[in-house]
Amino acid sequence: MSRQFAICPFCGCGCGMHLEVFDGRLIAALPSQVHPAGAGRLCLRGWQAGTLVQSSRRLLVPQAAGKQASWEDALRAAAEGIRALAAEGPQALGVLGSGYLTNEEASATRLYATQALRTPNLDNFAWALDGGSIWGLEQTLCIPYRSPVLPEIASADVILCLSSSLCADNPQAAGYIMAAAEAGATVIVADEVDQGLRELSTLWVQHKPGARAALLQVLWSALGAPGELSAKQRDTLQQAGVDAGAFAEMCAALRKAKRLALVFSTTTVQTPAEAAHIAEIVMLLNASGQQEAAVFALRAQCNSVGVNDMGLVPGEGRARERGLSLYEMLAEPTPLRALVVIGEGLEKFVGEQGLQALRERLDFLLYLGGYQTATSELADVALPMTTWGETEGTFTCHDGSIWPLHQVVPPTGESRYLPEILRDLSVAQGGPPLPADLPSLRAEISRQVFGYRLVNWEQVAAGQRAVASAVPSEDSAEVQIPADELPVPIEAGPERPYTLLVRRDTGSWACDPRARGAEIVERELAGHRAPFLVINPQTCRNLETREGRSLTISTAFGSQTLPVRCSPGVPPEVVMLPWQFRDVARALAGPLHLDAASRAGYHLPVAAALENPSQS
Ligand code: SF4
Repeated sequence: MSRQFAICPFCGCGCGMHLEVFDGRLIAALPSQVHPAGAGRLCLRGWQAGTLVQSSRRLLVPQAAGKQASWEDALRAAAEGIRALAAEGPQALGVLGSGYLTNEEASATRLYATQALRTPNLDNFAWALDGGSIWGLEQTLCIPYRSPVLPEIASADVILCLSSSLCADNPQAAGYIMAAAEAGATVIVADEVDQGLRELSTLWVQHKPGARAALLQVLWSALGAPGELSAKQRDTLQQAGVDAGAFAEMCAALRKAKRLALVFSTTTVQTPAEAAHIAEIVMLLNASGQQEAAVFALRAQCNSVGVNDMGLVPGEGRARERGLSLYEMLAEPTPLRALVVIGEGLEKFVGEQGLQALRERLDFLLYLGGYQTATSELADVALPMTTWGETEGTFTCHDGSIWPLHQVVPPTGESRYLPEILRDLSVAQGGPPLPADLPSLRAEISRQVFGYRLVNWEQVAAGQRAVASAVPSEDSAEVQIPADELPVPIEAGPERPYTLLVRRDTGSWACDPRARGAEIVERELAGHRAPFLVINPQTCRNLETREGRSLTISTAFGSQTLPVRCSPGVPPEVVMLPWQFRDVARALAGPLHLDAASRAGYHLPVAAALENPSQS
């Protein structure tokens, strides 16, 4: 029996764990007592991580034209497909990489895009989720953002949490909030719906969907100029649907805070304007010299920080002004002819119908990944790569600390290490032999990536602490974020009196093919596969229906009839659609709003009508 350290690959929390191996098989994942994120705890998914490598969803052999192929034939088919379209110019090609890739895999992906394909169209899936808020923070703070370690939340005397969904998004952060509450901290939860954290709060501040930026703007201005609110501030709060008494209590608590933790998940706080106001509040409180305030932006994927540091972003290097972002590459009509997707299925972002439509627009789709996905099934060529537990590498956590991931079992099936696949692909296309072994890739990272120059990789592999300083972005401080963004106007009228809100819920795990291979998680998620709406129980009664029955929802974009679930955390005038149902989200809420500056995308709330079809 042997044990090796690893970071849980499932969510952005990045808990430390030990992988237990017996007789050449990975038999268990156990929590690490020393790693700060989990401090001896794992959530349901983390305990299941040991099943990842044996998942029934693994992609085991190369596929070309929908059939099993030898590595030689599959690489030749991939190289020919890409070479034919490369003649159209580098702008016709795009590369997307997952936020689950290790630093070394992400570095190899950047080298493949920039040196073999010579395309600036390069982005990562993590930025698509985190980008808006992280970009807003960085622009306002004027420094690259690194989060404090999660246990510091527990030492705050006041916590302002802007994501009531933390129990699902980042269970460890929710645990530290609970610890702070038990120690007597004031916990303020401010959100548009309650997804569970309200129960822990000392003060609950509700606002309308889309009105978070407005609430934060008034909060910042009120903290900066104590006294009566102006008529404009009161008017903005009213538009944002915020109770004046709760707002005054929140201001008073923040003014009294000695150590304030401002916590949010990047999957709920998504816009640069929201994050800019958060940064302004923190800077304002810190400027007094009497208070300490810190932002805990909880990212969506386990190596969100690392893949961005490695330059898996549009443009060559970190310049975002050239090259297409993920949402621009997936847009309709796509400007691309060929797309290389690495480590994750595109369906997570466009839905399965959206993927079909994208596939028809693309001349060539190459997928490299460890799991079968809708993308691997539609790809011209799908190449199996080794995954977590089968590769050596590193992740960079939110605070910049670098942690090792060890290979504990041999590759499953015919899967191969991603950098080796990319090297062979580059050579087959007539490109350079890219670095493909760990020492060369790490030397490349140390040479190219500011902040990693002094990293001693041997010491990291041996479990010694190393921290990468933040990597500056070339576009810093070039763009102004509107400081006075008002609530998104929802024209709730007699025809469409509800607001449709597309938002992540616990079931968004259901769209992760890795979780589908884990028995217990699979069972837990069984009820989250088919689309449904979440409404207030009172809405259910008003429409004379009950849970499990269907309602017809109509917006300016379309109409669908879907079963409903009830949650008292959803206000009576709001209808929530879980984020993972991308096709339904597009049909009802329209195309994603693409933020031109951060290049991230999100759904804006829209006005909706609900009808009970059995009454019409
Ligand atoms: S909280 Fe996230 S990182 Fe931690 S064990 Fe659970 S899934 Fe893994």
